[in-house]
Amino acid sequence: MANEEVKVLIIGSGPAGYTAAIYAARAGLKPVLYTGGQPGGQLTITNDVENFPGYPDGINGPQMMIDLQKQAERFGTKVNYGLVSSVDFSGYPLKVTVDEKDEITAGAVIIATGATAKYLGIPSEEKFNNKGVSACAVCDGYFYRGKDVAVVGAGDSAAEEATYLSNLCTKVHLIVRRDEMRASKIMQQRVLNAPNIEIHWNTETEEILGDDSGVTGVRVFDNQTGAKKEIPISGFFLAIGHKPNTEIFKGFVDMDSTGYIQVVPGTSKTNIEGVFAVGDAADKVYRQAVTAAGTGCMGALDAEKFLATKEAEVVH
Ligand code: NDP
Repeated sequence: MANEEVKVLIIGSGPAGYTAAIYAARAGLKPVLYTGGQPGGQLTITNDVENFPGYPDGINGPQMMIDLQKQAERFGTKVNYGLVSSVDFSGYPLKVTVDEKDEITAGAVIIATGATAKYLGIPSEEKFNNKGVSACAVCDGYFYRGKDVAVVGAGDSAAEEATYLSNLCTKVHLIVRRDEMRASKIMQQRVLNAPNIEIHWNTETEEILGDDSGVTGVRVFDNQTGAKKEIPISGFFLAIGHKPNTEIFKGFVDMDSTGYIQVVPGTSKTNIEGVFAVGDAADKVYRQAVTAAGTGCMGALDAEKFLATKEAEVVH
């Protein structure tokens, strides 16, 4: 068991975590960043990122995360591979345990643990992940322009992704497991108004079909009649929700009913003094690499200001 004292501890290694690290390191705060179980975060399971400003030719997701890590390390961030297993924010300094053994005390903690897209849990989904299966239409939709795709889900995300894809793709099949959608009326209306979106009601996915070139279709079944059919598609988009990776902060940090951390609007401040939340862990609406990076910057600036105020209190 090791004990470490750090000024700024960053939990998570996606664009939010690394951007927080770049800013905190450049402010001389010697941040320590723990990568979590998926170093690099959600972008490591994406192919090309074409919507991050500054890359006119796009950039490969894993490469972008390697570059962000290098940039953070260049200014003195200590990047550690490890999973924060529990926290104790009941007092100050803040306490964090890594890999269930190493204890860290921190002056400020920036939570950048992200979110995980929910998947259906069928084997073919994993087999074709990144070869036609995606959980982000805004990230990957462009690769399917002029093609037929399917979207699974019936909430605002599914409605938004189906509408987005309908502007790029020839046809969008929306697979809805009940006879109604959960999405807001206005979003549903957009789906219904799009001439190239076909809704398959009471329909569930049995298998994603494909070959070496990627996805070629999906086999679905009507859960009322049991009737099966195959729909030819090139892209299969999941929009059945995300789960924020915030379980370990429960009981300390305020969250909404779905686990997203609540911050003071316009800031990264949580209800706990010295604890800041950035990126997808605190954002269920935008969920983009660039917005995550933006809030990561906010987290570092908020933490810097907090620590300066704390130090001034000690001096006086
Ligand atoms: P939601 O939890 O709202 O919806 C998930 C949808 O996926 C539901 O319709 C659900 O079906 C369906 N689903 C879940 N599991 C399965 C499964 N195994 N098979 C098939 N379908 C499944 O998630 P969203 O990501 O859509 O939205 C999350 C939050 O973010 C919401 O509060 C939403 O309003 C908000 N949001 C807002 C946006 C905006 O305002 N622009 C855009 C996107 C999201 P069922 O209905 O049958 O349970």
